[in-house]
Amino acid sequence: MTRHIEIAQSTPSVGEGGRTGDWRSSRPVFEPSACLAVKQGKLACQICWAYCPDVCIAQGIPPTVDLEYCKGCGICAQVCPAGAISMQPESACDEAATNVPPTNK
Ligand code: SF4
Ligand code: SF4
Repeated sequence: MTRHIEIAQSTPSVGEGGRTGDWRSSRPVFEPSACLAVKQGKLACQICWAYCPDVCIAQGIPPTVDLEYCKGCGICAQVCPAGAISMQPESACDEAATNVPPTNK
């Protein structure tokens, strides 16, 4: 018997609504070498994608974040079972970086 699990999620859209602007104080930074999807070389885990309340994480190997809409809530970092996501202060990050370590400014 095949079981189907439904996950309630809103649908992402491009527009002004929900855009973060400049008020986010921290952002998620992914450490790809620790990500379970990268380690397994397939679309595994993706828990961060499922839990992001703003639907701004795209599935991938590793998943990626759309910083235009990320609010910096930190839920993705909390739920990641591999510790592959850390929240970093905006002041320590390059403009578009999510998959590289923050720079020291
Ligand atoms: S910090 Fe929050 S809004 Fe940003 S990607 Fe993670 S879960 Fe989504
Ligand atoms: S929750 Fe963590 S381990 Fe799982 S896909 Fe996301 S970054 Fe990778």
